[in-house]
Amino acid sequence: MSITFEERLRESMSLPRVYFDHAATTQPRPEVIEIVAKALQDTYGNPSSFYEEGHRAVRLLEESRAEIAAGLKVLPEEVFFTSCGTESDNWAIKGTAYARQGKGRHLITTTIEHHAVLHSMEALEKQGFEVTYLDVDYTGLLDPEKVRAAIRPDTILVSVMMANNEIGTILPIREIGAICREKGVLFHSDAVQALGAIPVHPRDLNCDMMSFSGHKLYAPKGIGLMYKRKGLRIDRLIDGGAQERRQRGGTENAAFAAGFAKALQMSVADMEHESVRQAALRDRLIRGVIERIPHAKLNGHPTRRLPNNANFSFEFIEGESILLLLDSLGYACSSGSACTSASLDPSHVLLGIGMPAEIAHGSLRVTLGIDSTEEQVDRFLLDLPLIVERLRDMSPLYSDFKRGKLHPLIPEKGGTDIRIEGQYNLD
Ligand code: PLP
Repeated sequence: MSITFEERLRESMSLPRVYFDHAATTQPRPEVIEIVAKALQDTYGNPSSFYEEGHRAVRLLEESRAEIAAGLKVLPEEVFFTSCGTESDNWAIKGTAYARQGKGRHLITTTIEHHAVLHSMEALEKQGFEVTYLDVDYTGLLDPEKVRAAIRPDTILVSVMMANNEIGTILPIREIGAICREKGVLFHSDAVQALGAIPVHPRDLNCDMMSFSGHKLYAPKGIGLMYKRKGLRIDRLIDGGAQERRQRGGTENAAFAAGFAKALQMSVADMEHESVRQAALRDRLIRGVIERIPHAKLNGHPTRRLPNNANFSFEFIEGESILLLLDSLGYACSSGSACTSASLDPSHVLLGIGMPAEIAHGSLRVTLGIDSTEEQVDRFLLDLPLIVERLRDMSPLYSDFKRGKLHPLIPEKGGTDIRIEGQYNLD
C-alpha cells in the first residue's frame, strides 16, 4: 500500500527537521561555539590597545592566524582576516584592478561565479575596466586553454572559483593558475565552498589570492579570510586604521578568528573520513532520486563534484514549490544559491551551463554536512517522489505532456550525465 503526501505531512510533525542546506550556511560546531564564547568573555580587549587586555587579544588573533596558515600550508603573514567571503572577493578583484590599472584594464572570469565576484566585475566595468566572461561546459567545467586564449597583453587578473556553490563542480584551478603564472597574470580563486570539504593549499594550486568564509565550515557568520601571496601589493578595500598590517582597516574580531581556526583545524582533521562518508551519502541520494523520479537529472559534473553537493532538475515543475513542500515535511533545502533565492529568475549558474530556462526553474540543491545521516537520506528518498508527483499532478505542463502535446527535454529514465538542449515545442 503506497503512502500519501498527507500521511507523510502528519507523520513529519513528530519527526526532527532535516538540514540539507550546508552550502548556504552551517551550524557552528559545539567546540567552535565554546572557544568563541570563552574568547568573547575573557579576551574582549582591542588588539590595538597597549595594555594586558589588548596584548591578550593580539596573542589570540596571531595564534589563530598561525593555525589557519598551518592548515592552508602558507605563511601567517599571507593570511588576512575579513568580515566574509564577499568582502574577500571584492578586495581581491577591486584591490588588484585599482593597483594594476597602469599595466592594463582587462580582467577574466567565468559566467558561473558567485555574485560576490560577478558584481565586483560589473562594478569595475562601470569604471571603464573590460571583463571577459568565459563559458563553461554543460557540467560546469572550464577548459584551462580557454583562459590561455583569453589572456591579452593588458590582462591584469583572472578569477575562477575552486568549486561552484550551486552545482558543486570542482574546477581545474591548478592548471588555470599555472597558465596565469606562465603568462605573468595574477590569479584569484573563490574557494568559499571548497575550504573544509576538499584539500585547499593556495601555493600548490598556483593561486596569488584566495577567498574563504567561516560560516561555510562550521564557524560563525561575520568572519572571512583572504590568502594573499607574500610580497603581493594590492589596494585596500576598507580604509581605516592600521590593522591587518595596514591592509584592511577595522578592529579585528579575535574571538571569531579563534572560532575560524578551530573550525578549520577540525575540518582538516576530519576531511579524509568525512569526504568519503558524505560522498557515499550523496551518491545514495543521487541514485535514489534518479531511480525513483522520472524525468529527473543531476546537474553539475557526474564525478568531479564536492562530496556534499547534489543538484537536480525535475521537469514540468518549479523549484520554489518543491522547496515549500519540502519545508512542510521538515526539510531545509535550496533551489539555487541562498543569495538569489529571493528572486524568481532562473539561476545564472544553471543558465551558464546551457540549461534551458524551463528546466532551470525546476531545480533543487541538496547539500549535506557533518550532521547528515543515512536515515535522513532515506527519509528524503521516501518524501521527495511524493512531492514531485503531487506538484506534477497540478502542473499544466505535465498535463500537456500526458496528453502528448509536449515533448519532455529530460528523458523519462533521467540520469547523472545528460546534456539538455532546446526548448519546449508546444503544438
Ligand atoms: N563565494 C561563494 C562561492 C559562496 O558560496 C558564497 C556564499 O554563499 C560567497 C562567496 C559569499 O560568502 P559570504 O556569505 O561569507 O559573504
